[in-house]
Amino acid sequence: MHSHANLITNQHFFEQYAEAILITSANRKAIYVNAAFTELTGYSIKELSAEMHGLFGKAVNQKTKYFESDLACKNETLIHVKISSSKIVFSDQSEGRVYTLRENSEEAKLKEAQTELANLNKEFKRSNEELEQFAYVASHDLQEPLRTISGYIQLIQKQIQRGNTEGINDFMGFAVEGVSRAQALISDLLQFSRVSRKGNPFAETDLSEVLNIAITHLSVKIKELEATVTFEKLPRVRGDSSQLTRLFQNLIDNAMKFRAQGRKPEVKVYVKEQEEMYLFAVADNGIGIENKFYNRIFAIFQRLHTRTEYEGTGIGLAVCKKIVERHGGEIWVESEPGVGSTFYFTIKKQLI
Ligand code: ADP
Repeated sequence: MHSHANLITNQHFFEQYAEAILITSANRKAIYVNAAFTELTGYSIKELSAEMHGLFGKAVNQKTKYFESDLACKNETLIHVKISSSKIVFSDQSEGRVYTLRENSEEAKLKEAQTELANLNKEFKRSNEELEQFAYVASHDLQEPLRTISGYIQLIQKQIQRGNTEGINDFMGFAVEGVSRAQALISDLLQFSRVSRKGNPFAETDLSEVLNIAITHLSVKIKELEATVTFEKLPRVRGDSSQLTRLFQNLIDNAMKFRAQGRKPEVKVYVKEQEEMYLFAVADNGIGIENKFYNRIFAIFQRLHTRTEYEGTGIGLAVCKKIVERHGGEIWVESEPGVGSTFYFTIKKQLI
């Protein structure tokens, strides 16, 4: 390789050259790159010889004098370059090619804008679907308490018209109950929409601290139910600490709420480190969930029980899902009915 490089008599000239230069030998091996090339792509000549075919093959095999190509840099970003090539005759009379690479910054900018647009589009689609779900929820779930309210008010009206006050107090009570249910739904909806609208900017967050706060918020319930919550040391991530607190709190709260009769709730929180993500688990020994409901429970206001069995509106897991997604992760459940459930979620490991 180096003896080859010595054949390039004007190497010094290339080294000073501001544009990125790559020289290949007759058998299309990279034999020389200048400093500008290394700066542009991250590759030194040594690294390039090994990587040549995978990364630069297409561009380097072009016969045309001018062409454009995407090049994968050493740091894995893709740059778009304009390349011109010309023949070079080495001092041993063998022939190679000199390639001059210029990053096409206009193209690069356009590409970046396109990816951003695609991402925005995806986000737009997602929020549109969410909006549709909102509209659906508003028209269906909110109608139920409203119907109750208007039903009882009509009854009250009738009784008044009849000059009979019997039952009015009870009817009033039911109507008021309907109002608080509607209020609960609306405040849940607001809470749900705030996850993306009103989130705090991400910062370095110690999840052990976050979990401790969540457990403190639940301490009265934990005591009351004689529940045990065990956990291991959790890592630090980049995120919104108040949302992450809510995430753990909702999951542990559910783990206690959906406890099985005759056993005290036992909740375990643990973490597994994966390549790009941390995988967290909140496991319980509660009533469990049937397989067919694994997806449904994460949708807004979807629950598997009546209000009299277990209180709640069905927003908790929808909020969890939204929080996890805002942190670039996923959430799902695995469960055995009658034995317990484990809620898993991932959060991106990020440089802090
Ligand atoms: P809510 O708790 O208000 O019902 P969630 O969105 O938190 O709303 O939960 C949705 C449904 O998922 C619950 O009604 C319940 O049927 C089921 N669920 C959630 N967590 C658990 C759990 N730990 N064990 C069993 N079922 C659960």
